[in-house]
Amino acid sequence: MEARNVKAFGANAADAPLKELMINRRGVGAEDVAIEILYCGICHSDLHYARDEWHDAMPTVYPCVPGHEIVGRLTEVGSAVTKFKTGDLVGVGCLVDSDRTCPNCQAGLEQFCPNFTLTYGSPDKHTGGVTYGGYSESVVVDERFVLRVPENLDPAGVAPLLCAGITTYSPLRHWKVGPGKKVGIVGLGGLGHMGVKFAHAFGAHVVVFTTSPGKKDDALRLGADEVVVSTNPDEMQKHAGTFDFILDAVSAEHDLNAYINLLKIDGNLTMVGAPEKPLRIAVFPLLFGRRSVSGSPIGGLPETQEMLDFCGEHGITADVEVIPVQQVNEAYERLLKSDVKYRFTIDMSSLKAE
Ligand code: NAP
Ligand code: ZN
Repeated sequence: MEARNVKAFGANAADAPLKELMINRRGVGAEDVAIEILYCGICHSDLHYARDEWHDAMPTVYPCVPGHEIVGRLTEVGSAVTKFKTGDLVGVGCLVDSDRTCPNCQAGLEQFCPNFTLTYGSPDKHTGGVTYGGYSESVVVDERFVLRVPENLDPAGVAPLLCAGITTYSPLRHWKVGPGKKVGIVGLGGLGHMGVKFAHAFGAHVVVFTTSPGKKDDALRLGADEVVVSTNPDEMQKHAGTFDFILDAVSAEHDLNAYINLLKIDGNLTMVGAPEKPLRIAVFPLLFGRRSVSGSPIGGLPETQEMLDFCGEHGITADVEVIPVQQVNEAYERLLKSDVKYRFTIDMSSLKAE
């Protein structure tokens, strides 16, 4: 297939709504596959990026086409492709390339490659512009960055696994969450609800911290053993000094110290949420407890495949509200109000109908 123009949905400025636009996709090279996109999840990162909220760390290049929770069918494979054949159900997450030679790439930790290419907003080595994400009809990707999707899972619910799934699975594995561990998940959104499902599946005692009392029953259904409404200081205090690990998936400014106080000696709080502004940390609770605060970005390709296979074996998918692409702007507004159960996924066939 030659390079061609395809339909996409994107923004032309930080304060502009997303709308239909045309983007160029490269031709299928020897090691590439072409994917017809069936579903694309809406990550809060898409919103941060479309509105240039991460300006200091990674300024947005317009027009921008977000979307890094891609599930689709292969429509074409390059002459040297070995992993896939036409018709396969596949996924693409936040990465579409890396330098493949650095120690991190060699170790399968492409998320730490200093020269990685993000699915959207990175310099595009092939077209010379920037990469465009999954809010589009199709995408061409090197087969190394394409994941196999278990056919027993609902593809709409699989899409969010490609970012929300791996971003929570990876730190829970890294910090050895399992039986006998008391684990907190802060923020029951797209990432948080996957964190609950995985921590529960790994056998931990799971406590959800939410600012939304109305999510209590859902949290228990998703796998939580306890739910704490974090705006209630008495409820919080009951858990002081008891957690082995806390995963914070909050998208906005909030008080980390309230959670650091809940950690045991040597307990760890890992941020996966990426709020726009820096957060303040009081040092004394860290000192008197040898506690630590860290962060974690997505995950490498091998671990992403491991996560998808784990989901296939355990029947795990995201809880999704499927929307047509024309409702993306409305979905962004609802995301800001924590009004989604628990991930929006775009049915990309709606773009064809435009
Ligand atoms: P989301 O679906 O909007 O969920 C965020 C949740 O945070 C909300 O559902 C809400 O949960 C809670 N929350 C929101 N505003 C809050 C506030 N002001 N104070 C306290 N809690 C608040 O977002 P998401 O897609 O899961 O993404 C979460 C964050 O992770 C975003 O910043 C995103 O950019 C980032 N992210 C990071 C990575 C990574 O690699 N580290 C990957 C993907 C996304 P409750 O209603 O339960 O309180
Ligand atoms: Zn994401």
